[in-house]
Amino acid sequence: MSSSVALRLPSIDGLLRHPACAPLAERYGRDSLLTGLRQLLDELRPDVLSGQLAAVEIGPEVLAGRVGERLAQQQRSQVRRVFNLTGTVLHTNLGRALLPEEAIEAVQMAARYPLNLEFDLASGKRGDRDDLIEGLIRELTGAEAVTVVNNNAAAVLLTLNSLGARKEGIISRGELIEIGGAFRIPDIMARAGVRLHEVGTTNRTHARDYQAAIGPRSGLIMRVHASNYSIEGFTARVATAELAELAHAHGLPLLEDLGSGSLLDLTRWGLPAEPTVRQALLDGADIVTFSGDKLLGGPQAGLIVGRKELIAKIKKNPLKRALRVDKLTLAALEAVLGLYRDPDRLAERLPSLRLLTRPQADIHAQALRLQPLLADVLGEVWQVSAVEALGMIGSGSQPVARLPSAALCCRPQVSKRWRGRYLLNLEAALRGLPIPVLGRIGDDALWLDLRQLDAEPAWLAQLPQLQVDP
Ligand SMILES: *Cc1c(COP(=O)(O)O)cnc(C)c1O
Repeated sequence: MSSSVALRLPSIDGLLRHPACAPLAERYGRDSLLTGLRQLLDELRPDVLSGQLAAVEIGPEVLAGRVGERLAQQQRSQVRRVFNLTGTVLHTNLGRALLPEEAIEAVQMAARYPLNLEFDLASGKRGDRDDLIEGLIRELTGAEAVTVVNNNAAAVLLTLNSLGARKEGIISRGELIEIGGAFRIPDIMARAGVRLHEVGTTNRTHARDYQAAIGPRSGLIMRVHASNYSIEGFTARVATAELAELAHAHGLPLLEDLGSGSLLDLTRWGLPAEPTVRQALLDGADIVTFSGDKLLGGPQAGLIVGRKELIAKIKKNPLKRALRVDKLTLAALEAVLGLYRDPDRLAERLPSLRLLTRPQADIHAQALRLQPLLADVLGEVWQVSAVEALGMIGSGSQPVARLPSAALCCRPQVSKRWRGRYLLNLEAALRGLPIPVLGRIGDDALWLDLRQLDAEPAWLAQLPQLQVDP
C-alpha cells in the first residue's frame, strides 16, 4: 500500500466543468450542486487518505451520480401524502380531518388572490377577521358571539387567561386531563395565570364539592370533556345545567372545553353520541371551546363561542393577536361550516363524516376485492385475509367506541420467533412506497383497515413496487 501512488479526489472546479455535472447544475442550480459536491468530497476525504477507496469510486461520473441522488432526495418534499390505513379516522399524527372540495377551492382562492380578510366591503372600513365566520357559527350553534384561534389548545389558553387570570379556576379532579402532545389542563391553567382549584375525586365529583370551593378568589368554573379516556363504574358528575346554575348564582362564568365538539347530533348517522356545542350553550355554559379539525371535519382551528361580553373580553386580550388564525384557515372553515347548513347532504359532502359513516359491508367488499391482489404481491410466506376489524374515530372522540370496519390482515407463516421481524419488515416496506401505506401491527399480524382507502387506483398502482425483506 505505502508504495502505491496516493489517490487524489478530483477538484471542485474540475467536477463543475465535467459533462456529467452539467445536467445537475441545470436542474438544481449551480449553488446547490456546489454545496452537494463539497459535502460529498468532505465525507470521502478521510477514506481516500486512509486508502480505503479505489480510484473508480471517486471518478467524476461516480461522484456526479452520487450528488445527483442526493440532490433529488433533497428536492423531494418532506411533507408527504400517505395512506392512513391505521383504522383511526381522525389521526392527529396524520393530519386529522380531510377537507371537502368546497374548502379546498376556498383555500386556493385565498392563497392566490387578495381578499377582505380584515376589510368590511360594505362600509369600506377596517374589518375584523372573526366577522367572516361569525354569522355562520352563530346560526349553527346558537351562540351570541364567536372568536377563532389557531387550535383548541389555544382557545382554552386564551379563554382561561382572559377570564380567570390571577383568580382561581375550579375544576373536577376527574377532568384534569392530558391530551396527546403535551396538552395538560393543569399546565395550561398555570400558563394562563389561573390558579387551579381542584375539587372532588377522580371518579366522583358532586355539586357540593364545587359549592364548597367557591369563594372570594374564584374566577371561573371549568368543565373539560373527557375526550381520550372514560371513567366507568362508580362515578358521579354534575350535569352542565346544574353547574351553570351554581356558577351563575355566584357570578362566575362556566367554561366548557368540549374538545371535539360536534355541531350536530351524530347519532342520526349511527355514530356514538357526542355532546353538541348548541346543547352545551343551552345547558348554560357561558363559553364553549372546540377544535376545527376533529369531528367538525375542517381545518385546524380553535373555536370559542358563547356570551357576547365574555367574547368581547377574550378578543381584547393581546394574546388573541398571537393566536389568531390565518386567511387559509378562515377560508376553509367558512366553506366547511357552510356545508352544515344542509345536514341531509353532509355525510356525502364532508369527507370525515363520509369516512366515519362508510358501511362495514362496503369496506368488507373492498377487502375481498383487494385480498387476492395483495396476497399475490406478498407471496407464499404471507397469509392475507379479508377480515372484519374495529377502528376508531380518533382525536379523543369517543375513546371507547369502536367503528365496525374491515381490513386486510397479513400474517407471516413463519415460526413465532421470526414473526416480529417479518412484521416490522412488511411495515417498513409499506412505509417505503412512493405514497407510504400506514397500517397497524397487533396480534401477530399487520392490519390494513380499509375504511379510509378512497384512492384505490393509486394504492393498487404502486403495489407491484412492494419489496419486503425476508
Ligand atoms: C383535542 C382536545 C384539545 C386540544 O385541541 P387541539 O385542537 O388539538 O389543540 C383540548 N381539549 C380537549 C377536551 C380535546 O379533546
